[in-house]
Amino acid sequence: MSALSAILRSVEGGNFAFWCPGCGYSHQIAVGTPFRNGASWSFNGDVEKPTFAPSLHCKSGHHADGTPPGECWLCKKGSKACGVCHSFIIDGQIQFLGDCTHPLAGQTVQIPPWPNGSE
Ligand SMILES: [Zn+2]
Ligand SMILES: [Zn+2]
Repeated sequence: MSALSAILRSVEGGNFAFWCPGCGYSHQIAVGTPFRNGASWSFNGDVEKPTFAPSLHCKSGHHADGTPPGECWLCKKGSKACGVCHSFIIDGQIQFLGDCTHPLAGQTVQIPPWPNGSE
């Protein structure tokens, strides 16, 4: 990945990634090359104040594969990797929707600078 600005990185295939302060890891957005499920997004071309459409809906761990939480090996391990992150990214701001499982649910925040040393 290479940095396009403090907040946005380019990913192979014409896609993008930003650091999600709710999840504590990065999310990729398929613009040039759709994801395997066919999903793709539009981008306004502004690397300082990006707008992507439609909304991003990331599910991980048992939220993604449908495992009941009680049987999820990640949750049993005490990992916080399982979650839902649903947001609109407009003008460099992330509008987290109420169905996010992280503490920033329902809040709007600036896309943060990419943390040093993280991929
Ligand atoms: Zn997130
Ligand atoms: Zn889980």
